[in-house]
Amino acid sequence: MHPALKPLLENNRRWADKMTAQNPQHFQTLAKQHTPKYLWIGCSDARMPANELVGLAPGEVFVHRNIANLVNSSDMNVLSVIEYAVQVLKVEHIIVNGHYGCGGVNAALSPQPAPDMVEHWIRPIKKYHSRLRPSLEGMSEKEVSDKLCEINVIEQVRNICHIPVVQKAWQEGEILTVHGLIYNIEDGILHDLDISISDNETAEEFVLRKIK
Ligand SMILES: [Zn+2]
Repeated sequence: MHPALKPLLENNRRWADKMTAQNPQHFQTLAKQHTPKYLWIGCSDARMPANELVGLAPGEVFVHRNIANLVNSSDMNVLSVIEYAVQVLKVEHIIVNGHYGCGGVNAALSPQPAPDMVEHWIRPIKKYHSRLRPSLEGMSEKEVSDKLCEINVIEQVRNICHIPVVQKAWQEGEILTVHGLIYNIEDGILHDLDISISDNETAEEFVLRKIK
């Protein structure tokens, strides 16, 4: 065994023992069902453990993470996750969760280019930034970054509202709400961006609304 794996597997054994001690049926119950009510789309940042942040057990959150929590209409990965979550798992909530100080957002603000693929990946964030630029004048570097982190979440909520599988679920009267949250790594607190959308009418209004 590679020496780097040893402590991880030892930790795993201890963790599995602890979980079983707390509830002898824990893993059997989890193995039999996968019925999460939440789809979490978050940043790959290592400091963002999805279900832990919201106090939910692993079986309760279906998770997708990528750099800067982007939902891109040409990304088969995120689209298939959303499709599966909505159509098969019937999740009731899709949560886009960004965070202040996001490396992906800051890379989009930086004059230095990111590594090639990352530079390509964060292109939408650069677009949000150039669109917002006039309203960001006079702000400090940190304020601009914080604002762009929030806008980036809002834009992904907007992108999700455009996805046919989401629109179809709403047409069919399924219970499904798309939310935007942002996390502060410095104090561990999640903030609601107050953009929960539960139907096509509200989505349309939201899509048309100009972001300031
Ligand atoms: Zn991030």
